[in-house]
Amino acid sequence: MSRPAISLDACGLAAAYGAGQGSAEANVREALTRIDALEPSLGAFATLERERALELAAGLDRDRAAGVPMGPLAGVPMALKANMCWKGVEAHCGSRVLAGYKPPYTATFVQRLLDAGAIPVGMTHMDEFAMGSSGENSAYGVPRNPWDTRRTPGGSSSGSAASVASGMVTIALGSDTGGSVRQPAAFCGIAGFKPTYGRVSRYGLVAFGSSLDQVSPFARSVRDIERVMQVISGVDHADSTSAQLPALEPEFSESGVRGLRIGIPREYFPAALNGDVRARLEEAKRKWVELGATLVDVELPHTEHAIPTYYVVATAEASSNLARYDGIRYGPRVEGDGSLQSMFAATRAAGFGPEVKRRILLGTYVLSSGYYDAWYNRALRVRRLLRQDFDLAFQKVDLIIGPTAPTPAFLLGEKASDPVAMYLSDVMTAPVSLAGIPALSIPCGFVEEAGVQLPIGMQVIGPALADARVLHAGRVFEAATEHHLRRPPEGQPKAAGTNPGVRA
Ligand code: GLN
Repeated sequence: MSRPAISLDACGLAAAYGAGQGSAEANVREALTRIDALEPSLGAFATLERERALELAAGLDRDRAAGVPMGPLAGVPMALKANMCWKGVEAHCGSRVLAGYKPPYTATFVQRLLDAGAIPVGMTHMDEFAMGSSGENSAYGVPRNPWDTRRTPGGSSSGSAASVASGMVTIALGSDTGGSVRQPAAFCGIAGFKPTYGRVSRYGLVAFGSSLDQVSPFARSVRDIERVMQVISGVDHADSTSAQLPALEPEFSESGVRGLRIGIPREYFPAALNGDVRARLEEAKRKWVELGATLVDVELPHTEHAIPTYYVVATAEASSNLARYDGIRYGPRVEGDGSLQSMFAATRAAGFGPEVKRRILLGTYVLSSGYYDAWYNRALRVRRLLRQDFDLAFQKVDLIIGPTAPTPAFLLGEKASDPVAMYLSDVMTAPVSLAGIPALSIPCGFVEEAGVQLPIGMQVIGPALADARVLHAGRVFEAATEHHLRRPPEGQPKAAGTNPGVRA
């Protein structure tokens, strides 16, 4: 299969387009052709918006011909996660409870992308309400990893990661609450960035854990992540938690990462860490030193409490956020025995999947009177300690690195029946989410498992609001390595089973 023009990165593509080359319509057609070719084996998309995308492209082409100045992402095909509001396009969040839900408004970050000339071509599959690490908690379709279709692309932003890694689209958005963009970026060999909490408006992102959720981009280069961040970040009065700051400005420095102090947390390299992951991280450490950075041992002593803390805080917030799905305001209704109560119960019983129900129960329990202090309040205190760990470490270092995930992409089905094993795959991403700080995942090498190459991700973590520093360092590392240039094999076998979710 020939590589489409969209194999250019978004920066290159938008620049070429702005300079009069090619057409947005051709870019979108190429993306759709590639999607049609790869969807049978990957199943990344929940909804394709062919008509809309082609109309947007045609409008852009007309504007350009008329001399209208072009935005920084003009003509770039992209994907949105199915929990993002784009007026009139189904955003079912991977849940039956929102089947057919078409938001009456557009999210701030989506509008900013549209204004910058980016062209969403569809909505991608995800774990139901972003609860999961493999995509398997979707009520619709389960995406596959482009490097090995028997494996998960990671989750919960599964389809967005697969769509970028396979070159269907140039950029995609996911949402990261406890690792849902960084972990799939690591599993798929691409870049994924969770900004400082508040840096990107959440207006129009369907809420899971409101104190944790952040809209987070995927791309095949860090430069593209920066380009997307420049467009989507910045204060938004429609979100009261959005930071009172202008849009992100990338950093460029002649000296690269020379003189930078990079923290290596002992807790992120436990004895039980997968040997291949450890080996790739050791190589990455040597690369940082070669580039002129200094490695410094740091401690993040409360790391072991991050997963339990996350699963108290996130489920508490989810139980409250998901109370609105009652059969009245959104989605399909199931009538009960005629009473309002039984209609609520029947709608929610039929609408939510098992993982979401488990979390609503857990979240309701930790917030209930008599247990609130023992669980929720205590979790908030541990959350402060986790934040303090990072504050203390960042007094000694400029950035922290570690693995993004403890293993390479695992097999679909491997952890599906063991929620706790699934939860543990967030052990290195959840602390960052609880602390609200920025972190980038970029590829740092590959391992061979049963004859296939699987990417390994490295997390680059920074202090609050040091988003530009994190991205700058990631870009310097990327420029000195070739991992991000590798592409998954073409012509993978069609996935076993069907993907019932695609409704074009
Ligand atoms: N895997 C984590 C969870 O299931 C993180 C999810 C996310 O970041 N949305 O909650």
